[in-house]
Amino acid sequence: MLWRVCPPRSEVSSAERYPKSPSIHSTRNLRKSGRHFLMDPREQIAAMESLRLRGLDVIAFYHSHPAGPSYPFPEDIRLAFYPDVATLIVSLENSQPPVIAVFRIVGGRISE
Ligand SMILES: [Zn+2]
Repeated sequence: MLWRVCPPRSEVSSAERYPKSPSIHSTRNLRKSGRHFLMDPREQIAAMESLRLRGLDVIAFYHSHPAGPSYPFPEDIRLAFYPDVATLIVSLENSQPPVIAVFRIVGGRISE
């Protein structure tokens, strides 16, 4: 899973909110599956601590569905623990240009 971050909203203008070079962090998929993912908790904690020390917020988690649609699977919904962070899913299904969709998952409910 990759993370893209920006400075905290309360401390910057809208122009600064989305830097040209966002910070991106990757974590291993402990599921070792093309259909499901589970972030390595040690890598997740290390990345979040690194961001916190730099005064940055996570704005999105993103991952791919190599053989599935760009829509959350039930496990994506079950593991959506951060309601303020968007979920970006890249579908590589059908060998066509990737399809990217962004969702907000709050309390098991999905909104685009
Ligand atoms: Zn997924």
